[in-house]
Amino acid sequence: MIKLYGFEACGPCRQVKRLLEKFEVKYEYIDTLKNKVDVPSVPTLELEDGRRIVGLGTEMSNYIKKLGREHKKKKSSKEKCPQCGRLTINMSEAEPMCDACGWAQ
Ligand SMILES: [Zn+2]
Repeated sequence: MIKLYGFEACGPCRQVKRLLEKFEVKYEYIDTLKNKVDVPSVPTLELEDGRRIVGLGTEMSNYIKKLGREHKKKKSSKEKCPQCGRLTINMSEAEPMCDACGWAQ
């Protein structure tokens, strides 16, 4: 999961939180004051691969938008299972299968 480093009184940090929530991106929020984390500047976004994006700029907002688009694609790619009829087939997986009845393509 991606991590957001920031603290409550930081305006841009709150903006990033709002962006992440708007695009339904799951993240872990780490309060740098409460946890005494050493980051050069806030907000800092730590990606899954450990790469960091520092400061709310175009790079950060574009990245969040991209994650949001991927998330949306995943959500909308649910299809009806031919066996049990439930909307449980996740078509974004390499081998789509039904979570409910175990049907596999
Ligand atoms: Zn099924």
